[in-house]
Amino acid sequence: MRDAPAKRPACTLRDMPDVETHCPYCALQCGMTLRLGDSGRVEVGTRDFPTNRGGLCQKGWTAAELLDHPDRLRTPLVRGRPASWPEALDFVADRLRELQEAHGRDAVAVFGGGGLTNEKAYALGKFARAVLGTRYIDYNGRFCMSSAAAAGIRAFGIDRGLPFPLSDLGRADTLLLVGANVAETMPPLARYLTEQAAAGGTLIVIDPRRTPTARRAALHLQPTPGTDLAVALGLLHLAIAEGYVDRAYVAARTTGWDEVAKLAAAWWPARVERLSGVPAADLLTAVHFLGRAERALIVTARGAEQHAKGTDTVSAFINLALALGLPGRPGSGYGCLTGQGNGQGGREHGQKADQLPGYRRIDDPVARRHIARIWGVDQLPEAGVSATELLDRLGTADGPKALLVFGSNPAVSAPRAARVIERLRALDLLVVADFLMSETAALADVVLPTAQWAEEDGTMTNLEGRVLRRRALREPPPGIGTDLGVLAGLGTRLGYVGRFDTDPRAVFEELRRASAGGPADYAGVTWERIDAEDGVFWPCPKDDHPGSPRLFTEGFPTPDGRARLVPVDHRPPAEEPCADFPLYLTTGRVLAQYQSGTQTRRVAPLVAAAPRAFVELHPDLADSLSIVDGESVRLVSRRGAAVLPARVVDTIRPDTLFAPFHWPGVNALTNDALDPTSRMPEFKVCAARVEKL
Ligand code: SF4
Repeated sequence: MRDAPAKRPACTLRDMPDVETHCPYCALQCGMTLRLGDSGRVEVGTRDFPTNRGGLCQKGWTAAELLDHPDRLRTPLVRGRPASWPEALDFVADRLRELQEAHGRDAVAVFGGGGLTNEKAYALGKFARAVLGTRYIDYNGRFCMSSAAAAGIRAFGIDRGLPFPLSDLGRADTLLLVGANVAETMPPLARYLTEQAAAGGTLIVIDPRRTPTARRAALHLQPTPGTDLAVALGLLHLAIAEGYVDRAYVAARTTGWDEVAKLAAAWWPARVERLSGVPAADLLTAVHFLGRAERALIVTARGAEQHAKGTDTVSAFINLALALGLPGRPGSGYGCLTGQGNGQGGREHGQKADQLPGYRRIDDPVARRHIARIWGVDQLPEAGVSATELLDRLGTADGPKALLVFGSNPAVSAPRAARVIERLRALDLLVVADFLMSETAALADVVLPTAQWAEEDGTMTNLEGRVLRRRALREPPPGIGTDLGVLAGLGTRLGYVGRFDTDPRAVFEELRRASAGGPADYAGVTWERIDAEDGVFWPCPKDDHPGSPRLFTEGFPTPDGRARLVPVDHRPPAEEPCADFPLYLTTGRVLAQYQSGTQTRRVAPLVAAAPRAFVELHPDLADSLSIVDGESVRLVSRRGAAVLPARVVDTIRPDTLFAPFHWPGVNALTNDALDPTSRMPEFKVCAARVEKL
């Protein structure tokens, strides 16, 4: 029996002294160089890649610090004891087989991540469906981008975060950012804001906090959390009233206008002001900026999405963009800023419960036959359930008994985290593949140490839909395997007779065939082309196809070629403030930390910059509770509590609290109420109170 991953030699420097690759963290995927310095440490350098143009944030500069970090996992652990790779994989395979024999195929679940390369995301979906035969697979991207994805598909027939190159941001006369704090989450992207401002453009930001991004804006709309949808409806109402609707565009390129216009009619500015707190005059100013611009862009991010009505909120902003006739013109349109490193590619190739590679639907019989043929199986399981629902079923009487986790830390990143930890503890078998001991790995029966980004080849797809090359500088240290090796090793042990490559290039070649003809068609993308062209934009169906940097110029990939205006109406958040929990709690990110912090909480300069979680509150609120800046306070919601230092700032609404989610504890409070379409949890708003200790 083949053992995977194979034993590897000690770290060796490859032929190239400098390796051109991309940052391991966010979806901007900044181009960078890596080299092995004289001291033997890996050094990060910049390079002039079209998106970041030589810029990196502090996270990118320090990314190599984890490669030789003392916390790095270096040997498989079975029930806390070091084991050889064959022992660990035999143990996992035997337990999976036993559990499936006793409880059926769906006794095993798989949980992936938006940071996995395209090859790993593809292989994970294949492993779940073709080897395990389970319907239970989903990933943490469900927490990040799924609402914009769902809204994009229902309006445009396709989900590609930005359907235009990033450089368009600098060309817009008016740029409206909704719930996007790029100055902190993607600092190199802020240079496009500078470019836009230098060209005389106007930036408008919608955010309940006056973030560093909002401080750059000509106009900041600061709504009550959970009211973005009403604000979007109010903007559309005013666009109609002020005569800014592009009637010819709406007639020729969209369907559904009458119903959408009828709903917007009920959202007159005074009503929106009463509900959201955004002054009617500011709404009017925003509409004038958007309506009078020759080129206008509307861009949403997590602030609009992470709600139990996130899909409808994004739809409302897409409706506004379509009413103004924006999509399809250079410097104009609608886009979504994807968050995780491979958030885009990770949701295209099959680790989502309802999808097959190429962004195919799993309930499409033609797609099922195509993928089953490539994988050499007769049957594929049906659609599973979303990440939150999957986690909630773990260890229950009829739920999965085992979970395999790759590149994710749901014990920290999932909403209502205490309940998630309880479910993880209830499993018969928890297996985690990671390179550091995350909070989820600490609960695992088996921990499998895997390679880091500078030790692997593969592809990532950035927020523009540009497929990029991740290039290895060195081999993983001895004892450390790869995710592809783990999947192949388990596949062999579980009796899969089809092909399961450990070489990422071979996996990519299979992915190209699997995606051919699907919405996210990579058939014409090759590693050579990516190298030669600074990435290739999908869809790219043929070798001689130029790729698709700009979508929707002629039509939309819908059956009739028109975009669909979707009628949506405002509704309150799943949880409104009450006597016991009189405030809104919203969550988000800080510059020096990333996601659940497994990596960035171990990088000394990042820890120095952002050492711990905190809660922001307005001076008026702090005064009323006799809380002073820096004092420890207790933050409480219906689901849990956390003790955090208070930060008293006047950049937040007096009725709102903010806490960053990179540390354990904050997501113990967040609400797991789900959007009915995207199944995204409502991270961005819940009812809470703050107590003086
Ligand atoms: Fe990395 Fe994102 Fe920072 Fe660029 S902006 S260096 S991709 S974390």
